Amino acid sequence: MSCPPPQPPLYSLVMTTRPRNPTRAVRIGDITIGAGHPIAVQSMAATRTQDIEATTRQIRLLQEAGADIIRVAVDSRKDTDALRQISAMAERPLSVDLQEHYRLAEVIAPHVQKIRYNPGHLYHHERELPIRNKVAYLAEVAEKHDCAIRIGVNCGSVDPEKVGMFPADDSISPMLASALEHCEMLDELGYFRYCVSLKDSDPNKVIEANKRFAAQRPDVPLHLGVTEAGLPPEGVIKTRVAFEQLLSAGIGDTIRVSLTVPFDNKGDEITAGRQILDDIQAGRFRSVPEYRPQGINIISCPSCSRVENEAFIDLAHKVRDVTEYAKMHSITIAVMGCRVNGPGETDDADLGMWCAPTFVNLKRGPELIGKFGYDEVLDVLKTEVDRLISAA
Ligand code: SF4
Repeated sequence: MSCPPPQPPLYSLVMTTRPRNPTRAVRIGDITIGAGHPIAVQSMAATRTQDIEATTRQIRLLQEAGADIIRVAVDSRKDTDALRQISAMAERPLSVDLQEHYRLAEVIAPHVQKIRYNPGHLYHHERELPIRNKVAYLAEVAEKHDCAIRIGVNCGSVDPEKVGMFPADDSISPMLASALEHCEMLDELGYFRYCVSLKDSDPNKVIEANKRFAAQRPDVPLHLGVTEAGLPPEGVIKTRVAFEQLLSAGIGDTIRVSLTVPFDNKGDEITAGRQILDDIQAGRFRSVPEYRPQGINIISCPSCSRVENEAFIDLAHKVRDVTEYAKMHSITIAVMGCRVNGPGETDDADLGMWCAPTFVNLKRGPELIGKFGYDEVLDVLKTEVDRLISAA
């Protein structure tokens, strides 16, 4: 199944597109983002990195789709060994997603052009060390190996100290505080070749977080994305709404569209990203001032090497099918592919599912309802949807 084209209607430009923010230039291999350079379109390999055949196939697919930058995840020594071989065939700059072991950076950096770290994850590593020392280590490794850095803040895994500084219903200020703190640390270290991302599954929060960040740090290039945007076409629409609002305000230097699609269709993320950029450039807007989903809102992650059972992609599609009857009711259902980000990133949904190798954890908000087989969870989900409808 391939990604359908953006849904009509697209309106002619009714807002004035502002000049791009005066961000500084950040080189990533042969691509430069910021300082007015073309907006780079990127995506991520969803395969297990140590499955060299599948990952190289995925990289080829993304290259053919026109990716400017390709991200891969590294979580173990086996992944780093695989990455060495994978990087030899990659024709586009590689960005590596540092996951549980940030000290793998020194092994990976010689083979990639960019390192992405999540301040929330970094907080939990080697808790005895000041966070500044860990950032200094990453900056030193990046500098030594000619890599750029992305400070990648995600709504579901924000540094808990920042979360504690703000009211519980304010999820944007902690993300912002974390990003600004890490920018300041890199600046103080004299390392300026970095960009920032502030991602959430709610496009309105993505818009607000990025606008507030850009107002304070107009010099720092921004990587835009709506995380876990879900299945096409809804996932493309959510992303389009966020990108229209930000890019037309001069905010954004590189983009990633995150969609739940089969591995073989990952190139659709690039196609969708380029289509959105072309439409904005040509003045074709949806012209939606705010994205207020009505009816069922399915949030699902784009999958990555951490997916524990590929059946999760099929499950996300089935969730949409079996909840079709409830489409007039405003219910958010999150479907996530792994135990690392799944538990946290389902907390805000009315119903959440995060997928383990042989079972699915079903949640009602932050509360676990139970663990169910892939073939039985949909019936329980329907019962929960019915319960929400009758309680409304
Ligand atoms: S929820 Fe897990 S599998 Fe899905 S994109 Fe995030 S890290 Fe990857």
